[in-house]
Amino acid sequence: MFPLLRATAGCSTTPTRVCRDVKTAHLQQLRHLNLLECNSKELLQKYGVAIQEFKILENSPTDAQLINKFECPEYVVKAQILAGGRGKGVFDTGFKGGVHLTKQKDEVLALTNKMIGHHLITKQTPKSGILVKKVMVARSVNITRETYLSIVLDREHNGPVLIASPAGGMDIEVVAEKTPEKIKTVPLDLDKPIPQQKLIEVARFLEFKEPASMQRAAGEIQKLFELFKAVDATQIEINPLAETDNGEVISVDAKLNFDDNAEYRQKEIFAMHTAEEDTDPREIEAAKNNLNYVAMDGNIGCLVNGAGLAMATMDIIKLNGGVPANFLDVGGGVKENQVLKAFQIVTSDPKVKAILVNVFGGIVNCATIANGVVAASNTLNLQVPLIVRLEGTNVDAARKILKDSGLAIQTATDLDDAALKAVAALN
Ligand code: GDP
Ligand code: MG
Repeated sequence: MFPLLRATAGCSTTPTRVCRDVKTAHLQQLRHLNLLECNSKELLQKYGVAIQEFKILENSPTDAQLINKFECPEYVVKAQILAGGRGKGVFDTGFKGGVHLTKQKDEVLALTNKMIGHHLITKQTPKSGILVKKVMVARSVNITRETYLSIVLDREHNGPVLIASPAGGMDIEVVAEKTPEKIKTVPLDLDKPIPQQKLIEVARFLEFKEPASMQRAAGEIQKLFELFKAVDATQIEINPLAETDNGEVISVDAKLNFDDNAEYRQKEIFAMHTAEEDTDPREIEAAKNNLNYVAMDGNIGCLVNGAGLAMATMDIIKLNGGVPANFLDVGGGVKENQVLKAFQIVTSDPKVKAILVNVFGGIVNCATIANGVVAASNTLNLQVPLIVRLEGTNVDAARKILKDSGLAIQTATDLDDAALKAVAALN
């Protein structure tokens, strides 16, 4: 996979492999706050980035008034969820498309009604979709070309990197894989504006041909970089950054992620993010307890520490013919009560038919995990098979705790053994 794109899990691309990759990105300790498109666009606007005028409808009695006063030759009606791929999505009602164009004002509210209160399923959402609570109605623009632009923090370059492609509006990971020559990456300097020459180079690469639109594109990119720095973003993805029939350059879709460590100085932004907009209530519950939860489609619940071990656990379960139901990453300095909470979250998913605990004790003390496991089994009166593989710090004490508990806990000698036992326990 295109390495830089690991971080660009949103907008036009995403989570499934994309979903899955994006999801694994969430396994890291940092949660990288995510905003709805409408909130992201408010920030873009504040920094002078060109966007379409828009209103937000929430299925309230004032919706009609709002739309009555909003005169546009054409409207674009967009479901607001924390996932991309909406245009090609489908609602649980069978209604197709989370993005619609209409010239009829009356139709705006009819479209809104088909969206709000229903789940929109896209390739970035869970299978059951995400409930739409808000709809954005924007002044539609006549798009002649869709380009892709993102700025992401990149480890390899120890700083922000700009990723540009003239092939916008589609899944950028596919572009990266099939036509890598259509992607340009440019390391940026956090301490300085992007040099004009570099901006023009990028605008040219994006195939802006008219000098005026090239200048406009350059200006938009610079403003997006200013925004990136000012709001402590870890990612800004504009897909599409569109060229219109009158030579304008507009950010038509925007996905922003923020560094959670910056919450103390980005209070307004973090306040925009209302917890209920998250995709899964278990994820919110986990975050409240400093845990990372990722829902999947299988039936083996996984409690692990660290993103790397989480991915290894998923692979090995799959190799042994099983499918993970979720991952709960307890991280480094986990306490016994967090292990209990972790179990509560993992078992709240009725799909979970076995639980695999896979912890490598480094900073984590295995005895803490063992005590937490025993407490959780007792407190929650656990009904599903529990397989535990512990290794590392204080593992002998941990094994003794599990053995002395008298509980029906299957211990595993290594990861393979653990996965085998978990898959076998399903039958
Ligand atoms: P996504 O599907 O979640 O990525 O949502 P987008 O906001 O990117 O919209 C999907 C697609 O709808 C875009 O790539 C455009 O092709 C189209 N689209 C969105 N807004 C407009 C608009 O104002 N005018 C026109 N003509 N097309 C639009
Ligand atoms: Mg998009």
